[in-house]
Amino acid sequence: MSTENSTEKPLDFIRQIIARDLKSGKHKRIVTRFPPEPNGFLHIGHAKSICLNFGIARENDSVCHLRFDDTNPGKESTEYVEAIKNDVRWLGFSWGEHLYYASDYFDQLHDFAVQLIQLGKAYVCHLDSEEMRDYRGTLTEPGKNSPYRDRTVEENLALFSQMKNGELPEGTCALRAKIDMASPNILMRDPVIYRIMKTSHHRTGDKWCIYPMYDFCHCLSDMIEGITHSLCTLEFENNRPLYDWVLDTLKTPCHPRQYEFARLNINYTVMSKRKLLQLVDNNHVQGWDDPRMLTISGLRRRGYTPASIKNFCDIIGMGKRDSWIDMGVLENAVRDDLNEHAPRVLAVLRPLKVVITNYPEDKEEELIAQNHPQKPEMGTRPLPFCREIYVEETDFMEDAPRKFFRLSVGREVRLRYAYLVTCQEVIKDDTGKVIELRCTYDPDTRGGSAPDGRKVKGTIHWVSARHGIRTQVRLYDRLFTAENPDMDKDKDFKEFLNPESLQSLHDSILEPSLADATPDDRFQFERQGYFCLDSKDSSKENPVFNRIVTLRDSWARMKKKK
Ligand code: ATP
Ligand code: MG
Repeated sequence: MSTENSTEKPLDFIRQIIARDLKSGKHKRIVTRFPPEPNGFLHIGHAKSICLNFGIARENDSVCHLRFDDTNPGKESTEYVEAIKNDVRWLGFSWGEHLYYASDYFDQLHDFAVQLIQLGKAYVCHLDSEEMRDYRGTLTEPGKNSPYRDRTVEENLALFSQMKNGELPEGTCALRAKIDMASPNILMRDPVIYRIMKTSHHRTGDKWCIYPMYDFCHCLSDMIEGITHSLCTLEFENNRPLYDWVLDTLKTPCHPRQYEFARLNINYTVMSKRKLLQLVDNNHVQGWDDPRMLTISGLRRRGYTPASIKNFCDIIGMGKRDSWIDMGVLENAVRDDLNEHAPRVLAVLRPLKVVITNYPEDKEEELIAQNHPQKPEMGTRPLPFCREIYVEETDFMEDAPRKFFRLSVGREVRLRYAYLVTCQEVIKDDTGKVIELRCTYDPDTRGGSAPDGRKVKGTIHWVSARHGIRTQVRLYDRLFTAENPDMDKDKDFKEFLNPESLQSLHDSILEPSLADATPDDRFQFERQGYFCLDSKDSSKENPVFNRIVTLRDSWARMKKKK
């Protein structure tokens, strides 16, 4: 085992199973797979499954296959295929040469279906979907056999061939496995394994008008690829007997084992692709990669690092019971990563002009700022200073309480890396809004400390008006106002959308060192949080910065206050 999955941490139950199977010699080599359906972009829940499957492969020097489970042509597309590949790669994983599509197996799957018919284990059924439901029974009552259940093998073969050749209209019949209509597991009551669907497929075109169902396709695809451990989420627990039945009945040469782990749920968001698609289609967000979406592409655009997502998956672990993870855990993961690596810069989000009246108009000087106060090895940068600067609007208060250690008339503060300044006068516009402060500086305090040792408690950030870069800044809040937007069955989850999830500031000002930033750079704007350039909407002329995360968990603080 490699060091990546830290050796001090006890193995999760899946890794325990794998270690046991290797030790006993049951398997010499582990093969896992990540099997997304290309019907949407991947989300943070998929990241959990990716980290598990590709992580296990990496730890065991083996391979993880990327397999597109593309059996539902109406909803799938190559755009999604490409986006998924891109996301897996970005997370830092590689499938090498093992890129597969369930649609590559359509011929083999068809032949397996024919074999089932020949074994007397599948039949063509003409019940419509409503009748099929009635015949299926309930949790407490057994189902009834379909009147078509006892057709001869020949008849079934002929009908299945007609289905395949497009001779029968959609919805008129389906191929069902012949298992047990009285099984306590409803999924075993003669499940449909092939249906007619006259829809073009993004890879096989119009070759097929019948498509296999998940339960038939998945186990056989795993088998064809020689997967050893087929890891899926808990809701597939009841599908496991069917997975095994198909492989046992067909006496396949290998029989992968399915294990289930808990699905990731995070509060204040929705996780299903179907719901995320609604947000995209109804323009509640700007697309799959909207920085408020917990899609991998949204997190990437927001500024999350692959390392922070992998760390998050490591922290939440691999349980066997469904649970909810607090959004704060994800935010902490990225905060921890950025705290280590992101250089510090000065940026004023809501600017208020300050004129330093005793500083010569034509003078300019370069001060020295540290890139990471706790990490001197990250170096320093020059910070230009002149007579006019901007400070944060909220760093001034007219009737300030005693404990307000920032700007107010008569009070002295430290400008980060610069001088001590004292506010002398407030300029207002006709409406009474404060539009400018007049201050004086103490020329003997360059760097921020006073030679006479006088104490100045407050330190604020600032940007030179002459040198600063104007930028748009986008601040994000949670996309939903409810912890579980799905909680109320009578309400649509979209009713819980947070109308204030995006706040755009158009007049923010950045220190000039940010002129060369690229979307791959991440910064701490001192006192404001972590930020990066928006990879889509930003340009050299009109930069746009996203706030990745605040400096502290503001939600946790709010909860404590209550
Ligand atoms: P969704 O409900 O969001 O559409 P899905 O399960 O239908 O998800 P697939 O593309 O079929 O999406 O999933 C690919 C893999 O990712 C599956 O193995 C699935 O179990 C896993 N997966 C999907 N959602 C989660 C989640 N929330 N937590 C952990 N694993 C997940
Ligand atoms: Mg699915």
